[in-house]
Amino acid sequence: MASILVIEDNPTNMELMVYLLKAFGHAPLEAEDGETGLAIAHWESLDLILCDLQMPGLDGFEVARQLKSDPTLPKIPLVAITAYAMMGDRDKVLAAGFDGYLTKPIEPELFVGQVEIFLPPEKRSTKSNNAGK
Ligand code: MN
Repeated sequence: MASILVIEDNPTNMELMVYLLKAFGHAPLEAEDGETGLAIAHWESLDLILCDLQMPGLDGFEVARQLKSDPTLPKIPLVAITAYAMMGDRDKVLAAGFDGYLTKPIEPELFVGQVEIFLPPEKRSTKSNNAGK
């Protein structure tokens, strides 16, 4: 079980990600914009942060820069959720401080397994471990 912050402005995507994470026994926290996400990152103990790139206000790149440059925050894996499909974005995403990225649309059968790659083994769900073997 992992505590996972999801920063995503699209309600449909948010609902799907939260549903899938809960179905695998994780504890998702929701932030519908970057400002809220940064605040939650400061007061909650988290195992992972998933962050949309395209959001009004602070976009995902700015959220990543602020999270990774804040010495008061523990080092939490940060994964971009991106609709971008262009090759050049990979470098831009990693340069902004993300540890990796997942592409939208979210594939329900694969999503949690893709997310758990970024979690330590003891935080992964048994379900997805079994499904992957
Ligand atoms: Mn968005």
